[in-house]
Amino acid sequence: MPAPTDPDLEVVDTFPHPRRHKGTYRLTDFTFLRTLGTGSFGRVHLVRSIHNRRFYAIKVLNKEKIVAHKQIDHTNNEQQMLLAVQHPFIVNLWGTFQDPTNLYMVMDFVPGGELFTLLRRSNRFPEPVAKFYAAEVALALNHLHGMNIVYRDLKPENILLAIDGHIKIADFGFAKYCPNTTWTLCGTPDYLAPEVIQQRRYNKSVDWYALGILIFEMLTGLPPFHRQDDTPMNLYSRIQMGAAAIRWPAALGPLARDVILRFLEADPSKRFGNLHNGAGDVFGHGWFREVDWSKLRAREITAPYLPRIIGEGDASAFEAYAEDGVAMMYGLAADDPHGLHFPDFEYTAEGPSSITTMGMNMGGMGMGVGMSSAF
Ligand code: AMP
Repeated sequence: MPAPTDPDLEVVDTFPHPRRHKGTYRLTDFTFLRTLGTGSFGRVHLVRSIHNRRFYAIKVLNKEKIVAHKQIDHTNNEQQMLLAVQHPFIVNLWGTFQDPTNLYMVMDFVPGGELFTLLRRSNRFPEPVAKFYAAEVALALNHLHGMNIVYRDLKPENILLAIDGHIKIADFGFAKYCPNTTWTLCGTPDYLAPEVIQQRRYNKSVDWYALGILIFEMLTGLPPFHRQDDTPMNLYSRIQMGAAAIRWPAALGPLARDVILRFLEADPSKRFGNLHNGAGDVFGHGWFREVDWSKLRAREITAPYLPRIIGEGDASAFEAYAEDGVAMMYGLAADDPHGLHFPDFEYTAEGPSSITTMGMNMGGMGMGVGMSSAF
């Protein structure tokens, strides 16, 4: 896989949507409890506000690493997109801040864990279950696309489950304002549309393509072009081959196959979600016939799986991570050569750390990681 292309070379369109009013937060507003997840540039912690005693998730990103990996634009995009978006199936961002070393994003804590974990435990979902999650994702994508935001990293790891079992899409690290086309190579290998791999210009329809992959993965347990112990090059050539490279399990009904194939259409101008009717074609497809879209959007449809949560700050649905005292290092005085790259993250540091942690070292209890990580 070629290295990510330089995002600085992209045409930058000015984001027209107003950001929601955001709060001012600082490290000392929170007690850090445990790690919920890790990414390439930092980790996400479960925290508790010392003021209202509520639980939140704080994503901490190391500025040095972001700059080294040329992810400045992506990080600023993530902040800008999430602050502008408000939707029942998308994680809520309350505000952001920075200290000399890190950026911090304060989000709602979504306690039900990743759809990824539920899927691996279940092996595959029955059709009505897959349809429920796919339909909620379709509503969220339609909302983002209506704001001309392309999400670019749809996969089960980024779909979290709220306490009532409805989805919350997290990780806007690759989301971008995209009124026309863009061309940065980013995403997760199994979910990349052929035009992204070919490094052609692409549009929001890459998200509909990824929904096709997601539906296949939910119904069968694995993404359609994935093979055990394979090289990325083989994966990319199967993605280019398209439908001919898919092994369909016999149990997959004709409507499910049809909707998947329409999303996996190699030519974006023929792809479902990107035709004259836009998302209307998706909502009207026979596979989604039973879905009452307005009830679904109002969260009035009972979710197929209710996370087993015993209390408000229960994070047992998340994999355990070694804490290694990382939260103790947040807020320390340090040189800050990169702060100016992130002007929308407010400086609220208060000198040497007085941060409270209750971290437990739970190393070695991991449940296995995603098959492929984003780049
Ligand atoms: P991210 O880097 O945004 O993909 O986050 C890494 C992981 O942290 C996710 O896959 C989730 O497991 C977890 N995570 C992220 N945001 C939240 C949240 N708001 N609530 C609970 N867990 C989260």
